[in-house]
Amino acid sequence: MYERKGRLEDKVCIVTGASSGIGYATAVRFAQEGAILSICARREERLIELKKMLEEEYGVKVLVTKCDVGSYDDIKNTVAKTIEEFGKIDVLVNNAGMIDYHVPITRCEPEWWDRIIDIDQKSVFLFTKEVLKYMEPVGYGSIVNVSSLGGYFGNCGYPYSAAKAALIAMTKNVALQYNMTQIRCNAICPGSTPTEIENEIDKFHDDFASHCFKGLNMEVPKCSPFDQANAILYFSCDESYATTGQVIVIDHGESL
Ligand code: NDP
Repeated sequence: MYERKGRLEDKVCIVTGASSGIGYATAVRFAQEGAILSICARREERLIELKKMLEEEYGVKVLVTKCDVGSYDDIKNTVAKTIEEFGKIDVLVNNAGMIDYHVPITRCEPEWWDRIIDIDQKSVFLFTKEVLKYMEPVGYGSIVNVSSLGGYFGNCGYPYSAAKAALIAMTKNVALQYNMTQIRCNAICPGSTPTEIENEIDKFHDDFASHCFKGLNMEVPKCSPFDQANAILYFSCDESYATTGQVIVIDHGESL
């Protein structure tokens, strides 16, 4: 009998920020494609619920690790636990991130800059560095970074735009370093995607946010977290084996 293979069958995949939104949708899509999952975030109870659902619905293995991506020790612990449990890492999705309330430069305090850069940029450096220790010896792996329209167009707050733009250069740099191997690195730039991040919108600096949004067509449909997850899935699986260093905007044409 023909046995249908999932697009991520037997691949060990770390998804950061899987407790809600795009990370949650990515974990679900990966489970539907047969992945072995290592999911992390700060809200452990959410991850435990997700693990239970994925195991029951899709019969996949799921490891849960409580991890604040602002802590290098937590990142090292997540990677170590994944290796201990599953013995390899095939895919890393650097999705965890926070919004900066559209803070313009003159109102951006150094402490806020440091916080956003730590969570939205430095964590990607540290996670990628740790995971490459295991991908490099086997010469195989896929890393997907979740940037933002803000990283492409600079139209969010000052530190968030900077962090997400840095992810685009970091994606290309890792891709270049490993283009003689089967280790790949790509990025997605989501447009407006209703998730828990939207609960934070009332904290936006309204005058600056509305100025930033002027260049966007807000009338196009909103993306779903699963639209983003599907693009992440494509970059993660072997269908995209010849694609590296690429950045794709998923925004229903909002930025056109
Ligand atoms: P959510 O707020 O729904 O999800 C954010 C996720 O990141 C949560 O799982 C949260 O988990 C995790 N996270 C935040 N801070 C930390 C931290 N310090 N340590 C560990 N995990 C953390 O938002 P989205 O799903 O929308 O965001 C996912 C990514 O998509 C982000 O990088 C965001 O910048 C990006 N993005 C989103 C857009 C949108 O319109 N939604 C547009 C462009 C980019 P927990 O709180 O449990 O730690």
